[in-house]
Amino acid sequence: MMFNPTDLLRPHLKQLVPYSSARDDYKGKDGVFLDANENPIGSITEENWNRYPDPYQLELKAKLAEIKGVNAEQIFLGNGSDEPIDLLYRAFCEPQTDEVIINPPTYGMYKVSADINNVKAKEVLLTNQYDLDSQALLSAIQPNTKIIWICSPNNPTGNDVSLEKIEIILKGFQGLVVVDEAYIDFADRPSFTTRLNEFPNLIVLQTMSKAWGLASLRLGMAFCSPEIVAILNRIKPPYNLSGLTQRTVLNALNNLEKKDQMVAEILENREGLQNELEALEIVKRVYPTDSNFYLVKMKDAKEVYLKLIEKQVILRDRSKVVLCEDGIRITIGTKKENKKLIEELKKLSN
Ligand code: PMP
Repeated sequence: MMFNPTDLLRPHLKQLVPYSSARDDYKGKDGVFLDANENPIGSITEENWNRYPDPYQLELKAKLAEIKGVNAEQIFLGNGSDEPIDLLYRAFCEPQTDEVIINPPTYGMYKVSADINNVKAKEVLLTNQYDLDSQALLSAIQPNTKIIWICSPNNPTGNDVSLEKIEIILKGFQGLVVVDEAYIDFADRPSFTTRLNEFPNLIVLQTMSKAWGLASLRLGMAFCSPEIVAILNRIKPPYNLSGLTQRTVLNALNNLEKKDQMVAEILENREGLQNELEALEIVKRVYPTDSNFYLVKMKDAKEVYLKLIEKQVILRDRSKVVLCEDGIRITIGTKKENKKLIEELKKLSN
């Protein structure tokens, strides 16, 4: 059977008349623009931001398509990747009726967004090695299962899950499979964007918030079929990406070298930190990572977390998260920050 995302759409959205932005029919040309109730004089800032930005971010998408090796029509851009996460629920999951599947321990927003949208998130735990349990996942699928969320490299465990198992899910499930690759730039493997033409039910999420160092600008990317992009475009807020974000990111994309340098530095620091952490008496286990953070199991994790806050070193306490008992998530810092971290942890070890 041919996969058609419209078959998965919430029924009432099939009739939706989307908002049409001013200027939708008159893009990129000169004229006297009295159609959008903007301030014609200028802005209160030095730079002029008085005109609404391109609602579909075409210039930015053209550049991203080049860099990412996809077609511009396969890109949806959101206000952080948290926006497409929410929009996917709103497009495809009928509240109190449909289900999604998540694989804890994993990124928290899949569940929070499900709760906000009143959609059931069925939990299929990762294995003890933090890999997908593909058999259990396939068994958990029901006729009303719309989305399976897979995070790889996974937050908070740090590792890539098995790519063969992701393929098994893509082949065995007729709904949408989201592969969240927020940390892909720190992993040593090709992105699933290379598989988009093979799997029409695949959505790959990436973000500018990690490797690119642009967390504050809020830019998330969903790579998927043009049909899914069209659905998301119909329900998104009209101007979801600010002009400042669009312009700044477009400029940043000319500076790939700087991004690569930063990633290389973070990877170098990651390696150094592993040895130092493993040498500490309070550390029980440092989990292998494909990300810019480590999940570390420690003696008295909660205590360590609180003691370090007193020293102004802020970590992420994950000790109450399923399968992460005694776990603390540590972002790779600069050399100086990592040194301070290790110094404080050594004091606790004595
Ligand atoms: N996915 C994962 C796995 C994340 O860890 C995060 C942020 N911590 C996000 C998505 C959200 O990123 P953004 O800043 O693009 O909203």
